[in-house]
Amino acid sequence: MGLSVVMMGPPGAGKGTQAGRFARERGLLKISTGDILREAVKEGNPVALEARARMDRGELVDDATMIAIVRQRLLRPDAVCGVVLDGFPRTVAQARALDQIMQERNAGPLVVIDVAVPEGELVRRLSGRRICSNCGTNADPANAGTACPKCGGELVQRADDSQAVVLERLKVYQRATRPVLEYYRQRPTFRIVDGAQPAEVVARELDRAVDAALRGGVGS
Ligand code: ADP
Repeated sequence: MGLSVVMMGPPGAGKGTQAGRFARERGLLKISTGDILREAVKEGNPVALEARARMDRGELVDDATMIAIVRQRLLRPDAVCGVVLDGFPRTVAQARALDQIMQERNAGPLVVIDVAVPEGELVRRLSGRRICSNCGTNADPANAGTACPKCGGELVQRADDSQAVVLERLKVYQRATRPVLEYYRQRPTFRIVDGAQPAEVVARELDRAVDAALRGGVGS
């Protein structure tokens, strides 16, 4: 059974970008619940369409739906090589369910990384963020108004990145997701990485933090 990493952090911390890079480099399956939901909405999946209103308001989708989605992905054969979870767990109930699923899969300990970024910086980043309407890739804010560098699709603001919704998402994060950090904090495989640095620096620190956590040794 391969490595299992949980990428924690507030909206806008850059955890999705880091999760994607880390998964590619280590040959792991990235499971991003936000991407799965947005994809399902695009396909017209009825459960996702119901969830959409909550997503657009910056609220969380219910635990039962999210746990079922993640359980299903974790049982896929390509998850055996190891996984990086991005956007899950977001509540303590989801974290408990994840522990249960990992036990059922006979997986090793979860490595939990918190990508920490101060709130003012998050608001600034999220309000400027653009994603490709076609492939969902995050674009550099400096490129806003131009085409997606990956597929040529149109760059748009994500429905939940408007100022009011961003503030709501940050509130929801403080209320529902911060307690998940407390749930994990005492584990020897929990590490914090400073996300308010250039992406390459965050990447290097994150790699080191995961390896240190795996050795169960000192260092961040
Ligand atoms: P962010 O960029 O804020 O990390 P995501 O792309 O991970 O956002 O998720 C977008 C939205 O999808 C969330 O605001 C929420 O409505 C829903 N969502 C994603 N993952 C979860 C989850 N684990 N539990 C509940 N809702 C979720």
